[in-house]
Amino acid sequence: MPDVEIFRRLVAEPCRGRVVARADVCDRGILEGISPEALAQRLAGRRIMSSERYGKYLFIGFAAAGVLAMHFGTNGSLRLFPEGATAAATRLALQLADGSHLAYVNPRRLGWVSLWESPAALVAHLRLGPDALDARLDAAAFAAILGNSRRNIKALLMDQQRLAGIGNIYSDEILFQARVNPGRIAADLDRETVARLFHAMRETLQTAIRCGAGAEQATERLPPDFLLPHRHPGGRCPRCGALLASVKRAGRTAYHCPHCQPAG
Ligand SMILES: [Zn+2]
Repeated sequence: MPDVEIFRRLVAEPCRGRVVARADVCDRGILEGISPEALAQRLAGRRIMSSERYGKYLFIGFAAAGVLAMHFGTNGSLRLFPEGATAAATRLALQLADGSHLAYVNPRRLGWVSLWESPAALVAHLRLGPDALDARLDAAAFAAILGNSRRNIKALLMDQQRLAGIGNIYSDEILFQARVNPGRIAADLDRETVARLFHAMRETLQTAIRCGAGAEQATERLPPDFLLPHRHPGGRCPRCGALLASVKRAGRTAYHCPHCQPAG
């Protein structure tokens, strides 16, 4: 999610009010529910009015043309290029009237782009839970979301229908900051631990956004006590120096410090 917040700001400041001269679809496989021809027709000549983020999704709003929803997968990005510059793996380019373009870049092709009536329509379609940074989500509401689940806390934090916005990498960071073992059963966590986890979630995401760091980009900007820059085979805990443990679940690798986050 911190990545998507960076992309949202990229659209908000330099792009709001600007007109899309042409939408060039470079890879039709990235589109969902709309053809390249229909997308190009819908967006040509439209003015960018807004950029919103909900969970891991970015919404670029156009005057009288709905919202362009973007999902970035594991390493997708949105970049603004001046005239003449370009990026490999650009899947969609929104050509702006002054010759610059907004590029949806996605080397692993794990994300998608689609057109919706409103952000709320996609949120309802995917049955997303509240955004992890929603101001209305407080510690009590967070505890209710975890409920009496017998699933492990890491899987629960990543379940977008419970809580939207947290992926594999940031769930590791949040659990590290809260000193909670990722394998703990949610229902077994006491109230104090749940409250600590809630505050760690807020702090961690807000800190990453403030630093302008994402899951894979600009991680060197994160504070020195963050796990993320050390989160690789052979990496050591920035707090105690212990060798980090990695556990593979459902194709994703989770990292934690066996000393700071004991199994309990
Ligand atoms: Zn440690």
